[in-house]
Amino acid sequence: MDQYQVLIVGAGPVGSRIATELALRDISVLLVEEHSEIGRPFQCAGLVNPSSMEIVGLTESILQNIDGAKIHSPSGTMVQVGTEGRVRTHVVCRKRFDQGVTRQAQEAGAHLWLLCHPLEVETNPEGHNVILMREGKKVEVKCKLLIGADGAHSWVRRTFKMGRPTEMMVGFQSEVVGYESEDNWLQMYSGDAVAAGLFAWVIPSGLGTHRIGVWAKPEDLNGRSVEELYDTLLDHPLWRERFSNCKEIARYCGPIPCGVIKKPCKNRILLIGDAAGMAKPTTGGGIGPGFNQVAAIIEKLTKAINADKLSEKSLNSICKPYKELKKDQAKARALRDLLVTSPSDEQLDSHFEMFNRKDVLELINSEGDIEHPVILGMALLRKVPKFRKLAVKAGIKIIFA
Ligand SMILES: Cc1cc2nc3c(=O)[nH]c(=O)nc-3n(C[C@H](O)[C@H](O)[C@H](O)COP(=O)(O)OP(=O)(O)OC[C@H]3O[C@@H](n4cnc5c(N)ncnc54)[C@H](O)[C@@H]3O)c2cc1C
Repeated sequence: MDQYQVLIVGAGPVGSRIATELALRDISVLLVEEHSEIGRPFQCAGLVNPSSMEIVGLTESILQNIDGAKIHSPSGTMVQVGTEGRVRTHVVCRKRFDQGVTRQAQEAGAHLWLLCHPLEVETNPEGHNVILMREGKKVEVKCKLLIGADGAHSWVRRTFKMGRPTEMMVGFQSEVVGYESEDNWLQMYSGDAVAAGLFAWVIPSGLGTHRIGVWAKPEDLNGRSVEELYDTLLDHPLWRERFSNCKEIARYCGPIPCGVIKKPCKNRILLIGDAAGMAKPTTGGGIGPGFNQVAAIIEKLTKAINADKLSEKSLNSICKPYKELKKDQAKARALRDLLVTSPSDEQLDSHFEMFNRKDVLELINSEGDIEHPVILGMALLRKVPKFRKLAVKAGIKIIFA
């Protein structure tokens, strides 16, 4: 029987990232992936922020640099956030990016089994015996620690009854040819008809195609599907002209789990990345938060693995930083609800009028950091007179978040 210190289920970017860091610290790691290829199927807008890119250095996966966003209110007021020539984020080829992160894990010494998924786990005081289906055959592997990095619908999370993320958004995206726009700016659309409490996006892929997407909370859809919002965007009287030559070459739909689950650890079990509910409630991005989660626990986790101290209590103590991440998510969610999700289309329009003022735009561009939306949100509430009456509400929401 094969034996590893750590078995990681799911070779997405976050599973591969923690595999790299563990293997670099001489921990024996097996990474199993149910698909035959890393990075497929592709379900992502492909935005990776510069700090996450710096961690893995996979600049060859960058297709396009993005300087900012042109954000449209429900009735068409446009607010431009960002500065020409200052890169805010990258658009990557997710296949190349994911394969790069997994290759780093292999180079660090982790083993990778493709076409492999777990069937059963038997836990004993020394560790787990995991029955895996590998290329159609059952194999048994022993490990000291099982890490679930198996995405939004995590098998590990469901099998060990570890709860659910606070919010499970639905994302839908197409890749199209025939959309004309500047290469280095995102377009974002708001309003109940096309974005239901969040926003829709158009992202230049750098390959002559664009990624058009929308995400929403199921309860905000009022019986509609996200595809219906997408269809409404493409046929919206204000925007249909710009979508009129679009021809779809691909479509994807996927869940986005935003809100760290209550119990991300059990005896010799740990969840990470989307499996733990790490995506941002403000943007849906999950790669950066997953990488941050790895960085926050890796040193203590390595020590605990080497000392074989992997009880629920010990893992909970290692995962204390998850609590901070959960708190940050809750604050960001509270501000998002106040400024974007709860307002009616009329209120949103009036917020956009305010965002469009020179002094407010300067504030957004100086303090606006997608990594720290709470700082910007609070600055807006404090410094923009029209938003001040929301400040008390925001304060209460944030205190109780
Ligand atoms: C439409 C859409 C757009 C998005 N856009 C962005 C974006 O622009 N930027 C961003 O940062 N994030 C974005 N996200 C979110 C992002 O895709 C995820 O947060 C990120 O991929 C999480 O990485 P992960 O490694 O935790 O999980 P995943 O990427 O989901 O990887 C999990 C891996 O586990 C494998 N797996 C699952 N179950 C099993 C099993 N039982 N056995 C073996 N293997 C298994 C899967 O095949 C997969 O390879 C988007 C999501 C959607 C749906």
